[in-house]
Amino acid sequence: MNVRKKIIAGNWKMNKTVSEAKAFVHVLLKELEEYSAADVVICPPFTALQAICDLLSQSSSHVRLGAQNLFPASHGPYTGEISPWMLREFFCHYVIVGHSERRIHLGETDLFINKKVKAALSASLHPILCIGENLEERQQGLWKEKISQQLQIGLKEVEEKQLADCVIAYEPIWAIGTGKNATPEQAQEVHLFIREEISRLFSLQSAQKLRIQYGGSVSPENAQELLLCPDIDGLLIGGASLDVRTFCSIILNS
Ligand code: PGA
Repeated sequence: MNVRKKIIAGNWKMNKTVSEAKAFVHVLLKELEEYSAADVVICPPFTALQAICDLLSQSSSHVRLGAQNLFPASHGPYTGEISPWMLREFFCHYVIVGHSERRIHLGETDLFINKKVKAALSASLHPILCIGENLEERQQGLWKEKISQQLQIGLKEVEEKQLADCVIAYEPIWAIGTGKNATPEQAQEVHLFIREEISRLFSLQSAQKLRIQYGGSVSPENAQELLLCPDIDGLLIGGASLDVRTFCSIILNS
C-alpha cells in the first residue's frame, strides 16, 4: 500500500510582489481551511517570505513555506546569496534545489547542487531536489543515464536516515512551461526508475518511503491522472500555481 502522503508545491519562480503574495495567501488559507489530505507548500521569491511567514503563523493552516534556492554556507562573503539558516528564520520547511532553470541559466552543476542538498539538511530544511532530462536526451533514449547521474551526485554523502527528509521532483525540461506535460505513462516510468535507483543507492525500504513529485506543465486538466500513478507522490507546479483559484482547484480535486 502507498503510505506516502502526497505533497503539492507551488513554485512561483520570479513572480509576485509582496502585496500580490499576501492577497494570494489570504484566499489560499480560506479555501484550504479544512484541508489536510496532502502537504501543501508555496515557494515564493525570497522577498515575500517574511510577509507569508507572518500570515501563516497567524493561522492554524497546514500550508508550509518553501524557498526557491539557498547558498551552501552558513554565512560569509557571498554577495547576494541567502543561507539555509536565514530561511529557517522565516519558518521555511522546504527549499527547491537544482531546478533546471538554475542549472541552465546559472550554470549549477550536480556537485554544487549536492552541496546545497547537504546544507539544507544540516539546517533541518527539506530539500526538493529537481532532476530531469532535456528533449534531446529523451529523444536519444538517454534519460536513464541523466537521471541516474543527477541522483547519484545530487545525493552523494547524504545519509540514509537523512533521505527521509528529502523530496525528489522529476521535472522533464521539455515539459516545463511548454504546456506539454509528460503523459502519466511517461512520468510513471521515470518515477519507478527513480525509485529503483534510490533502492540501489540506499535501500528498498528508503525508496518506498521517498516522495517523488512530478513537475512540468501541470494543470487542473492533467493533475488528477498524474496523481493516480502509483509512483507519483505529488506535484511541483509552476505556471498553474500563480493563480490562487487554479492552484486550489488542483489541490482540492486531487
Ligand atoms: P510549470 O513549471 O508548471 O510552469 O511547467 C514547473 C516548474 O518549473 O517547477
